[in-house]
Amino acid sequence: MEIKKEFENRIKVLNNKSFNNNGKYIVYWMNHSHRAYFNHSLEFAIELANIYQKPLLVYFPITDKYRFSNVRYYKFMLDGILEAKKSIEERGIKFILEKVDDIKQKILEISKSSFALILDKAYLRYYRNLHKKIADEIDIPVFEVESDVCIPVKIASDKQEFYAFNFRKKIYNLLDRFLIPIEPRIPKILSVNLDFGIKELTINNSLEILNTLNIDKNISISPFVGGYSNAKKYLEDFINKKLYKYKELRSHPELDYQSNLSPYLHFGQISPIEIVLEILSKYKQRDDNLESFLNELIVWRELARNFCYYNPSYNQYEGIPEWAKQTLEEHKKDKREYIYTLEEFEKAKTHDEYWNSAQLELLKTGKMHNYMRMYWCKKIIEWTKDPKEAFDIACYLNDKYEVDGRDPNGYAGISWCFGTHDRPWKERKIFGKIRYMSSSGLESKFDMKKYVEKVRNL
Ligand SMILES: Cc1cc2nc3c(=O)[nH]c(=O)nc-3n(C[C@H](O)[C@H](O)[C@H](O)COP(=O)(O)OP(=O)(O)OC[C@H]3O[C@@H](n4cnc5c(N)ncnc54)[C@H](O)[C@@H]3O)c2cc1C
Repeated sequence: MEIKKEFENRIKVLNNKSFNNNGKYIVYWMNHSHRAYFNHSLEFAIELANIYQKPLLVYFPITDKYRFSNVRYYKFMLDGILEAKKSIEERGIKFILEKVDDIKQKILEISKSSFALILDKAYLRYYRNLHKKIADEIDIPVFEVESDVCIPVKIASDKQEFYAFNFRKKIYNLLDRFLIPIEPRIPKILSVNLDFGIKELTINNSLEILNTLNIDKNISISPFVGGYSNAKKYLEDFINKKLYKYKELRSHPELDYQSNLSPYLHFGQISPIEIVLEILSKYKQRDDNLESFLNELIVWRELARNFCYYNPSYNQYEGIPEWAKQTLEEHKKDKREYIYTLEEFEKAKTHDEYWNSAQLELLKTGKMHNYMRMYWCKKIIEWTKDPKEAFDIACYLNDKYEVDGRDPNGYAGISWCFGTHDRPWKERKIFGKIRYMSSSGLESKFDMKKYVEKVRNL
C-alpha cells in the first residue's frame, strides 16, 4: 500500500500478524482522537477499508472501571464523543458506543470478526501497555496512528530532550514537512446501517449516559462543554479577540487571554494541526503574539509528549532531573513555615488567598489559569514536608479536577515545577536550586485582587 504524504511517519504496525481474510469489517478504536475531521487514524482506516472493500466500524468502548473516572471528566468526553459519532455517521460510517467492563477483552472479542484494527497513538503508560498487550494477543494487524501532534514524537527527537531551546530548533526544522491538511476520504462501502452484532448504547444524551455509569459523582460538571464545534468556537474567538495581545496578557490570571483549548486538545476533540493551519490562514500578522502561541502549542506541548514518551517515571518524583532531586533532598530537613494535608489543599484551606483562589478556580471550573498552575504547584512543594509527597499531591489534584488533566502536559508541567526543562537558580531554603515563586511576585506583575474577585464570582 502506498503511503501518502500526510500519513508519512505517522503510522506504525504494532505486530506482524496477517490480515484476517474472513474478517467482516475493519475496526477503528477511537481511543484518543475523538473527532470526525483532521483525524489521520480515521482517514487511514477509510483508505484501508476502501482498498480491501470492507465496511468500517468506528468503536468507542466506555468503562466505569478507569482509575480516574469521574462525572466532570466523563461529561466533557461524552459530549465530544456524541458529536464525533453524529458527524462520522453523517459520513456513512457506523459508530458504536458500547458500555464494557474490560476494554482489552472487548477489543479482542470484536477483532475475531475483523480484518484489521486501527488505534490512536498513546504516550502514557496505561494505554501504551494496553496497546502492546492487545497487539501481542490479537490475531490481526494493529496499526497505531499518530494524529494528535504536529510532528510525530519519534521524528521530533529520538531521546528525552532536557531543554525547550534545543527541542524548538528540531521542531521548527520539521514543521513545513508535517503541517499539512488531511482531506476527508469518502468510504466506498457505507456501513452506517449495517448490523455489527454489538450491543450499543443508543442514548445520545451525555447526562443520561452518565446515569448508567458507576463513577465518582461528588464533583461538579465543568462550565466547559466538550465537542469539536465548541473547540472551533473557542479557536475563532481566540483568533479574533485575543491572539493580538497573547504575548503580553496570556500570563495575567485576572484576565482571559488564553485560548482555552487545552481540554479539547486533551480529548483529541480538535487537531493541533488544524489549529495551526486555521490560525496561519486567518491571522495575517507574523508577529510575536503568533510566535508566542505557537511556542506553547507546538514546542511546549510536544516537549511534554517527548518527556512522557521517553521518561518512564514521568508522573513520579523519581522522574525529575538528578540535580533537582539532589538539591531538594539536601533541603528536605529545612523548616517549613506551613505544612498542609492533602485534604486542606483539596478544600482550598491554606493561609494564602491567592493559592486558595487558584484551587477554587480549579474546583469550580476544572481549568486553572496557566500562571496560577505554576504558583499552585510551587507552593505545594513549599508547604509539604517532603518533595515526593508534594509531587504526588499535585498529580492527584491535577488529575482529579482539571478537565485537561491526565495529560502529558500535566505531568510535564508538574515536573517542570520540580526542575524538569528548567535550569538551577540561586539556592534558597526548601527549594534548593529549583526555581521559587512568591506571592509578592504575583502582586508585582498582576492585579491579584481582581483575580481573587473573579474566582469568588465564578
Ligand atoms: C503545574 C502545572 C500543571 C499543568 N497541568 C496541565 C494539564 O493537566 N493539562 C494541560 O493541558 N496543561 C497543563 N499545564 C500546562 C498549561 O498550564 C495549560 O496547557 C494551559 O494553561 C492550558 O490553557 P489554554 O489552552 O487556554 O492555554 P494557551 O495559552 O491558549 O495555550 C495553547 C495550548 O498550548 C499548550 N500549552 C500551553 N502552555 C503549555 C505548557 N506549559 N506546557 C505544555 N503545553 C502547553 C496547551 O496544549 C494549550 O492548550 C500545566 C502546567 C503546570 C505548570
